[in-house]
Amino acid sequence: MGAQGTRRSEVAERARLIDRELAVLYPDARIELNFSSALELLVAAILAARSTDRRANEVSPALFARYRSAADYAAADRDELEALIRSTGFFRAKAGTLINIGKALCDRFGGQVPGALEELLTLPGVGRKTASMVIGDAFGQPAITVDTHFARLARRFGWTAYSDPDKIERDVAALLPAPEWTPVSHRVIWHGRRVCHARTPACGACGLAALCPSFGLGPVDAQEARKLVKPATDSSAATAAANQAFTVRACPPPPM
Ligand code: SF4
Repeated sequence: MGAQGTRRSEVAERARLIDRELAVLYPDARIELNFSSALELLVAAILAARSTDRRANEVSPALFARYRSAADYAAADRDELEALIRSTGFFRAKAGTLINIGKALCDRFGGQVPGALEELLTLPGVGRKTASMVIGDAFGQPAITVDTHFARLARRFGWTAYSDPDKIERDVAALLPAPEWTPVSHRVIWHGRRVCHARTPACGACGLAALCPSFGLGPVDAQEARKLVKPATDSSAATAAANQAFTVRACPPPPM
């Protein structure tokens, strides 16, 4: 094994340790969007784009009660749909996307959300992040979801040197076993939202301090760092309960 290979195996070993520590820090890590079907998760992900999970969760109960199938979205009254999702922002574009997704599902997939990444990517407005989320969280297949938090932390952990989501996904997939891909996505995103912030990471209050090669990027003083830590969202418990009926996949800790 050359120097490059040795270094990569060290990174892989540290990636496993970081993943294991994250599993201890966030035993409840899971997707924070509420849904009870693949279609609902797909719709919720569209609503959360350029908005927040919280906003999407606020509008989704009324939306999901009104539109129960792909055909319902395909035949939606645009003004009514826009009014229901207005608070998530970019509501005109999102309404158009939802209607077009409904039509595409009816035209090409018998009204069902397909369970293959390549097919999901053919749907209007569905990018790799959304498709991976649906594959991992609705269909229970291994998938790495590279959002802005995951991309930032993967670089800070030394898992990748890239900014391009496809390359980040490829690099991380080579470091961790497939069964870890979906749970590690949630754990890393949770850590990014709560501790390892974009501008000032809370290094002095970080449970990964001993493992992270970027320790010191933010304040290392514990008291100062603790002020930066954001608490779990209020909706975490509600989200867990809402998703329970459809997907009971608490992330098990990685193998020792
Ligand atoms: S030590 Fe700092 S940079 Fe590393 S994960 Fe923790 S908060 Fe982020």
